[in-house]
Amino acid sequence: MSRIAYVNGQYVRHAEAAVHVEDRGFQFADGVYEVCEVRQGMIVDLTRHLNRLDRSLRELKMASPMSRAALTFVIREVLRRNRVRNGIFYLQVTRGAARRDHYFPAPDTPPTITITAKSTDPSVAAKKYANGIKVIIVPENRWDRVDIKTVGLLPNVLAKQQAKEQGAQDAIFVDRNGIVMEGASSNVWIVTPEGELVTRPAEHGILKGITRTTLMDVAATLDLKVAEREFKIEEMMAAREVFFTSATGICVPIVEIDGKPIANGHPGTVSASIRDAFFDIAEKTPI
Ligand code: PLP
Repeated sequence: MSRIAYVNGQYVRHAEAAVHVEDRGFQFADGVYEVCEVRQGMIVDLTRHLNRLDRSLRELKMASPMSRAALTFVIREVLRRNRVRNGIFYLQVTRGAARRDHYFPAPDTPPTITITAKSTDPSVAAKKYANGIKVIIVPENRWDRVDIKTVGLLPNVLAKQQAKEQGAQDAIFVDRNGIVMEGASSNVWIVTPEGELVTRPAEHGILKGITRTTLMDVAATLDLKVAEREFKIEEMMAAREVFFTSATGICVPIVEIDGKPIANGHPGTVSASIRDAFFDIAEKTPI
């Protein structure tokens, strides 16, 4: 079965899917995106992801490519055509194709929209949950508007590659005052020695993760106390647990940071119980 992508109104073979050479996503990273998990034939937290997409578009004064109903239809169609039951879809909207010029193109320039989908192997995630991952600390060097989910991810790419070259899997951005920001593609949480769940506020400086928001709902049902406050590297290193949240990984334990173990160097029980409860609590939209 060949993979199918959606590109500007058409379902095309993935191998041949393409956008214009002067697409502003390609020229300027002038675009936004969303990634959503699909599990057991259900799209996880679709409403929250589409709400965030609307916000990203608004913040960049970009036009919405279609109504929410139409977008939902196309997303489900792409998932169906690719026979995804467990996997993800990736959706990108750019300011369209126009002669290269920093100024916005004419208002009637249609936005570019592409949607792809792929199946993922649940055993890969299971291995991460069982073993945890190693991460490195990198200095925050991103722009001020990382609260917008734009496709401009070069610092994130460089951070992850550096992690890989140093024998780790991921990276955490920390600002010049030692305050923990977020991962290269996830939010960071700690469990304090007193058992409190802590994550930094998301008004600015990080992307307000959808998984992060839903995790707060999960924590409430499990009677876990959550605090939204800043924390520094030292507090993170002394935590009982450290973990990442993201749509693709849900809740991934971090067992080593810059070569030093977190607690006993094994995944903790709090992140595991959150992960177990997550799918039940999250919004589920059938494909
Ligand atoms: N922070 C960054 C920089 C990300 O790229 C992502 C996800 O891609 C997240 C946080 C987590 O967001 P979500 O839970 O919506 O996937």
